[in-house]
Order: sequence, then structure tokens, then C-alpha cells
Amino acid sequence: MPDDDLITDIRCRFCGSGHGEIVLDAGRQPTAKVFPKAGDPAEDPLHPLRMWMCGRCHLAQLVEDPDTTEEEPGLEPDALVQQAEDAVARMAAAGIVGEGTVLVEFGSPHGGSWWDILARYGARAPEPGELADVVVDNLGYMHDADQAAALERRTSLLKPDGVVLFQFHTLASIVAGGQWNALRHGHFAYYSTPALAGMLESAGWTPTTAWWFPLYGGSVLLAARREGVRDQALSDLIASEDAAGMLKADIVRGLQRAADDMSDGLRQFIESERAAGRTVWGYSAASRAVALLCRAGVGPELLPSIADGGGAKHGRRMPGSGVPITAPDEMVAARPDTVLLFVADLLPEVRRALPEIEADGGRWVIADELHAS
Ligand SMILES: [Zn+2]
Repeated sequence: MPDDDLITDIRCRFCGSGHGEIVLDAGRQPTAKVFPKAGDPAEDPLHPLRMWMCGRCHLAQLVEDPDTTEEEPGLEPDALVQQAEDAVARMAAAGIVGEGTVLVEFGSPHGGSWWDILARYGARAPEPGELADVVVDNLGYMHDADQAAALERRTSLLKPDGVVLFQFHTLASIVAGGQWNALRHGHFAYYSTPALAGMLESAGWTPTTAWWFPLYGGSVLLAARREGVRDQALSDLIASEDAAGMLKADIVRGLQRAADDMSDGLRQFIESERAAGRTVWGYSAASRAVALLCRAGVGPELLPSIADGGGAKHGRRMPGSGVPITAPDEMVAARPDTVLLFVADLLPEVRRALPEIEADGGRWVIADELHAS
């Protein structure tokens, strides 16, 4: 296996420190941004997929990145839409957003903008040259390779008394849930609340408050100002993530065990289902399923198809593993005994949207919850 594309002189994407440790090596993986046509037999290029944790600022980060263009925005789970409403309502209740608030949003290339909701609360975009009252980053910051420059770019748009907010899938929930496959190319940073708070402080900002949401198992919206005081909610969140070991590489390295356990568990589960004569399909061609299937060595011979609610991927296949991606009605017609769900957040809506699966005697199984025996 070639390793000449492994970076040996790793530097922190935020503070520049060279001191840190690899906390997760997910092996060589295809980029999850390119889904080839189903009949395309070409071998997908594989790239190292590793997470490193800075010993100085404690930012967990992607090491190598193949620099591929982002995919089309995917389908937004209901959970994401509901959380957006919830988050903006909290910002409004805290007096951060209201009628006439000048606001800049940095969003994710995967979609999920909060603008419609923010506008309903009275926010507007700045005029040319006008500084903003609020800069809100919603899962955008992690997509910047240079974390220090990206923070500067966001905060430079603010008035002196402005507020900057970041929403992120906290490392604490990634580690607690063993969600090793949250690691992916193009996602450069994996923030814990104490690490992000420390990064902001080192740049002259005072983190003031934070809200926690159940999205993805635990997402945080953190606010900071140039002058301010840290409130109890933020202090408690920082203390709890600190106590959970989020500033310690040897704790975060639990993701490595999770990767082995989940991949082996998936393969063993499918093999035992098939041995028992049960048919297994997958649902949701999410990027996190790409790494899981690849690492588990599960291809079309074990998993014939993955159904996906978004039409853009139909007729394509998973990179690396080669599992074809089809429409949900094809899956319903195939009447599988078991459907592996690769995005746990989707469970309520897929049960609602595809009642035939259970009506025909099938069951949904959350892939991330499988463990090796
Ligand atoms: Zn650092």
C-alpha cells in the first residue's frame, strides 16, 4: 500500500503547532464527494483518512485531504430543519437576532441555510461595506483548511459589539457515540466546546453562551463577543466536555476502537442475516456510509443496494465499495427483511415515509449501533 501521500510534518490548522497525535486512522478511503455512475468500473482513488489532535489548542482535525470539489447539496433530514427553527428561536430569545439585525451567514456546502428563518425574525444582509451585528456559522467553519484565516474572515465582518456564533457537531458526541465515520475528506475540523472556546479566546474573543441540541447525537451553538462574560450554561458545557476527556488525545483515540468495532459489527451482522436467509438492504447513501462500507469490506455481494431519498444519487454507486444506489420504491418492491439505516436521525421519517417496509414484515436496523461479537 503506498504511503507516500501521508503527511509527516503535521501542523495545526489553527495554531500552527507541530505537537499532537494521530487519534484516528480510518485507513485508505475514497473521497465521499464523488459517486460514480453505477456501471462505471473504474477503480476509485483511495486517500489516507486520518484525524490528528493538536497538543496545544486541542483542535481535532483532518490531516490529508485530496481536495475534491464538493458534491451537490443533499436531502435535508427533518431533524436538521427542526433544529434550525429551534436554534434561531434561541438566538431571538437571547436578543441576538431581531427586527433589523444585520447578519452574515456562513453555511455548509451541503445546504441547510438558516436564512429563511433568520429573515422571518427580521434579519437582513448587510449593504455593501456595512459591518454586521451577527455572523453565524452553521456547519461551515469545518470546511476551511486554514482555521485561523477562516476565523479572521468571519470576525472581520463584525461591528465592534457584534456577536459571532458557531454551530458544530461536537467532538464530545462524536467520541461518546463512537461516530468515527464523521471523519471525512473536506471536513477539516472537529470541535469540542472547550477547544473551540479556547481557540476563540486565543483570537481575542470571549465565548459567552452556548446551546446544546440533540442533532447528530449532540450539536452545539456557541456565541462569542469581543467584550463579554461567560454564562453558566457555557461553563457547564465546557466543564462536562472537559470531564469527558475532550482535551485528551488518549480519550479521543477511542474513535479508533469504535472504527474497528463498527466495521466488524456491520460485516458480521450482514453475514449472519444472510446465513439466516434474510435479505438486507441499506438506506441513505450518506458520506459516512462510504467509509463504513469500505472499512467493513462490504460490497454488492453482501449488500445488493442502498436506497436513497435524494434523486441525485440514483443510478450511481457508492465509491470504494461499489454498492449501487437506487430509489426507495425499488427497495419497497424488493421487500427486504432488514434495512440498515446509515443515518440514525432519519429513523422517524423513513418509518413514516416507507411504512411498507415494516408492514411487509421487515425491520429497520441502525448501522452505527452494530458491534462486533
Ligand atoms: Zn493547534
